[in-house]
Parts: sequence; structure tokens; C-alpha cells
Amino acid sequence: MFGKSLIRSFIVYLLACSIVVTTGCNSDKTKRYTTHLIGYFDTVITLIGYCDQQKTFDRYVQMAEEEFSQLHQLCDRYHAYPDIANVRTINLNAGKQPVQVPEVLVELIQTALIWQEETEEGVNIALGSVLDIWHNYRTMGIADPGQAQLPALEDLTEADRHTDSQQIEINPAEKTVFLRETGMSLDLGALAKGYATERVAQKLIEAGWTSFAISSGGNVRTVGAPIGGDRNQWSIGIEDPNEDQNSDENALIDTVYLTDGSVVTSGDYQRYYTVNGKRYHHIIDPETLMPADHFRSVTIVTEDSGWADYLSTLLFVLPYDEGVIFAEENPDVDVLWVFSDGQTQMTDGMASRLKSMGAVPD
Ligand code: ADP
Ligand code: MG
Repeated sequence: MFGKSLIRSFIVYLLACSIVVTTGCNSDKTKRYTTHLIGYFDTVITLIGYCDQQKTFDRYVQMAEEEFSQLHQLCDRYHAYPDIANVRTINLNAGKQPVQVPEVLVELIQTALIWQEETEEGVNIALGSVLDIWHNYRTMGIADPGQAQLPALEDLTEADRHTDSQQIEINPAEKTVFLRETGMSLDLGALAKGYATERVAQKLIEAGWTSFAISSGGNVRTVGAPIGGDRNQWSIGIEDPNEDQNSDENALIDTVYLTDGSVVTSGDYQRYYTVNGKRYHHIIDPETLMPADHFRSVTIVTEDSGWADYLSTLLFVLPYDEGVIFAEENPDVDVLWVFSDGQTQMTDGMASRLKSMGAVPD
């Protein structure tokens, strides 16, 4: 699993690099710098950016790492960390008591609940009890493929009795989160990585950085344009879900050109296990309690990386017709749907950014 995430990051990294090479990358003083952060959100995070000197870059990297590290720990459902209350702590106290957590976690949960209210049902951050069951079966099925099994529908249905997000009680003044029902469990996986990426991007913008890209396992956020060459847009590769990602690092279905925006993909090909030759992946339709099966992948382009991450999961779960309605109502969101047979559909906005549709970088 981790290996595949690595490859995914490097695809974006390599592609981003290839622009830099063709642009020549330097003005008088500005240089391109790159680094990788490992240990956060189960993936490799790559930072590429332009600035005047190594020292400046190192300062930005340190800021980014502090932020990723904090959000990684706060959103972790499975591990405890010294001196912080996180999602695990909230879940352990379900039905018992409110838990005081750092403000950023309150904000993240509040934001997710607002987005859930504003959109069709498909993402539910209170689906943890159901996702736990799938997580356990997937872990066992990967460890011992011969014994891989599907969870019993009765168990999923029973767990689903404790997934009402209305039962999440937030007290912003006290900075507490309380899951009112025993058995409830939060899972922020649908948006945490993108939310963290956006927060990091905003911190770096505030600090004065005007030209960089952050790639965190399928979530890419670009700010400004590459500097000093003949191209003013970043190139972001979208993986081809029908290719074996382990065997071909350049298995791309397309390339997006953009500045100041995010490209986020949700797919069935990164985290899955196989039962009787059929693939069961990690994005669960709250209606059926089974992996959503409309698409191989959905890619979103919009400015905010947290919103893009939330939407990539949502539109992966929603049937195509509902996704199209959403896209029509939200012209600042571009979508690429990849179906099981390899066919694709896209919004006009997405078409105008894709290499395969004739887009060329500015
Ligand atoms: P990834 O994290 O692999 O980039 P996504 O952004 O699509 O992919 O998020 C998938 C994660 O979201 C799952 O690993 C799980 O933690 C969580 N999740 C899966 N299905 C749902 C759902 N219907 N609602 C909320 N969270 C979900
Ligand atoms: Mg997502």
C-alpha cells in the first residue's frame, strides 16, 4: 500500500520536474528546490518551489513539516501521541464525555459538517464504525490473500446504527468534540490530507512564498507559477487506474495544466484487497455499505485542496448523473470521471485543462 502511494507521489514529482527542466528554471537569483517529507498521512509528501536561497526554502519546509505533523497526529484514528488529544481520543470517549482538542481539529470537523450539509449524502465523517470493519477485513485479506473474506452485511448494518453525524456535538468556545452515542467513531480520511495540504499552502503564502507545489499522495496544490522559464503553468499527471501502477511509473491517463489550484484524485486502485478475484477498495458508499462501484477514479480540480479532497471522495460515491448536477451547479469545480471500461467523461472546464484535449501550458 505504502509502496503504491510512493509511486503515485513520484509520478507527480517526476512530471512536475519535467516542466522545470524544460523551463530552465532560473531567473537571476531564483532557483528551484525540492524535498520529500516522509511519515505523514501514509504517503510521501513532495514540496517543489522557487525561491532565492536554500535557507529560505528550508524555513518554508520546516513550516510545512510542523503543520503536516500536527494534522497527521490530530487526525490519526489508531495511534496516541504524547500530550495531544486526537480523533482516537474523541472516538474512545464516544458516549462518555466531550474531549478538548486543538482548535484546528475543531475547525476541520466543523468544515466537514458544513460541507456535508451543503452537498448530497455520500461522505460521512461519522462512518468510522463501518469503515473499521472494512479496514480490518482489508488488512487481514492483504496479509493472507488465501483467507480473504468479505464482512457480513449484518455486521455492517449493525455498525451503521452508529453513524449519524447529527450526533457529533461541537462546542467551539470550549474547543470540545463529543460523540453522543456509544459505538460512534469519526474517520476524517475523506478530506484530512487535502485539508492539511491547504492549511500548509496558506501558511506558506502568508510567509511570503509565491511559487510552489505540494504533492501529497494524490493531492496536489499549486501556488503561483513556475518561475524563470518559458512556461507559466504546472503540469500534474493523473494516474491511469487501468494500468498497473507498480509496473509503470508513467502510467498516466492525462495531464492537467494549472496555476493556483488543486488536483485531487480518488480511486479504487490504491487501497484494496481481493476476494474471489474481485477487488474491494476503501471508499464505502454509505447507502450500500459496500465499496462504491460507479468509477475507477474521479479527479477534481478546484482551488481549495480540502474541498477538492472532500469532493473527490463524494463524487466517487455519487452516481454519474448526480455528479454532473453537482458540477453544473458548481462551475468552479472541474471533474474527470474514469469508468470501469476506461471510458471517461469530463466537465468543459476540465477539458480546457487537459493535455489529451489539446490544452498546452501557458
Ligand atoms: P485517499 O485517502 O486514498 O486519497 P479519499 O480522499 O477518497 O482517498 O479518502 C478515502 C478515505 O476516506 C478512506 O480511507 C476512509 O478513511 C474514508 N472514507 C471512505 N469512504 C467514506 C465515506 N463514504 N465517507 C467518509 N469517509 C469515507
Ligand atoms: Mg478525498
